[in-house]
Amino acid sequence: MNYRKLGETGLMVSEIGAGVEGFIGKTAAQVQEMITVIEQTGINFIDFYSPDPTMLKNVGLALKGRRDKFILQQHLCSVWKNGQYLRTRNTEETRNAFEERLRLIGTDHFEIGMIHYCDSLSDWQTIVKDILPLAHQLKDSGRIEHIGLSSHNPEVALAALEEGSIEVLMFSVNPCYDLQPAGENVEDLWADEAYATKLTNMDPQRQKLYEECERHGVGIDVMKAFGGGDLLHADLSPAKIELTPYECIAYALSRPGVASVMAGARTADEFRDDAAYEEASPQQKDYATALARMPLISWKGNCMYCGHCAPCPKEIDIAEVTRFLNLAKAKKALSDEENFIPETVREHYKVLKHHASECIQCGACEKRCPFEVPVRENMKQAVKLFGY
Ligand code: SF4
Ligand code: SF4
Repeated sequence: MNYRKLGETGLMVSEIGAGVEGFIGKTAAQVQEMITVIEQTGINFIDFYSPDPTMLKNVGLALKGRRDKFILQQHLCSVWKNGQYLRTRNTEETRNAFEERLRLIGTDHFEIGMIHYCDSLSDWQTIVKDILPLAHQLKDSGRIEHIGLSSHNPEVALAALEEGSIEVLMFSVNPCYDLQPAGENVEDLWADEAYATKLTNMDPQRQKLYEECERHGVGIDVMKAFGGGDLLHADLSPAKIELTPYECIAYALSRPGVASVMAGARTADEFRDDAAYEEASPQQKDYATALARMPLISWKGNCMYCGHCAPCPKEIDIAEVTRFLNLAKAKKALSDEENFIPETVREHYKVLKHHASECIQCGACEKRCPFEVPVRENMKQAVKLFGY
């Protein structure tokens, strides 16, 4: 298993994380087995959006003696009422539900307190007023180590980044959502009308969100990487081409800022399958070929960080150079400063083994790029921006 930094939290999370749906409706023995498989595969990151008390209790039992091997992301504002899940912004309900989660899991803290499901700016304002003070109290008292927010809306997520309290973002990332503009209704992201005309390239606000997260050290953990499973079936996917789970995971892990993908799994075997991503071949992870075949969707000229253009005779990691170039260019567009490149981007570029200045302009990469990215021009721009 590979591990990545979760932004600047200091936490190292497994690239493949575990969503909680696999534990719901299972017996204590089944949950025990699943937690054991998760541990064996090296998955160390578990998200709990559900407040189902039976599930939480079973997970608590399964974690006995090994709690510290896992990074637990528990949700704030997702409560259990009258036998079902409910989203709330009531401070006291949220506080009580969170204490109950601590009790059921049998721990004195969670690594991440994830403010649950905010898709509108007005809701974000309510959170700022009623929930963020509670989240800070929990953090100050050691009940949580870091504050997170889950959202499907890049406009809301960008507003949250600007506010400054959010250290972890749980965000829906997949190649179809990424084409769609910001909106308050997650259903719109899958509506037939949203795919009725030709779509070109990633929505700029989403691109900006990923880049801002990387620049500001806010770690992204991904939900809905498979579009709720629809992306895995040509007849259900709005893209009309089926993707494999590994292609979806590789796509999400290639976006800037992303640390981990909460892959869906309902059984121990499905957790094993998700973790087997780590042993998959480059061909199995190659999402670019499928993306380039999608009718009515074009990423022409836009680097998807897929690595399809390799190998470069000068061993330049073209996807990485282009990623840092885009991060630097986006920052330049926002700044008049001469020294506009953030230090982190400059440092990341510096430690690459080979730099754009080594490009001999052979053009071999462009022949292999499925999206007609002008790599040679990008290399020249990178030299201009970084100096080498
Ligand atoms: S054009 Fe430059 S980056 Fe592309 S393969 Fe040739 S040397 Fe590598
Ligand atoms: S230049 Fe093309 S092939 Fe290379 S990483 Fe970008 S999109 Fe992929």
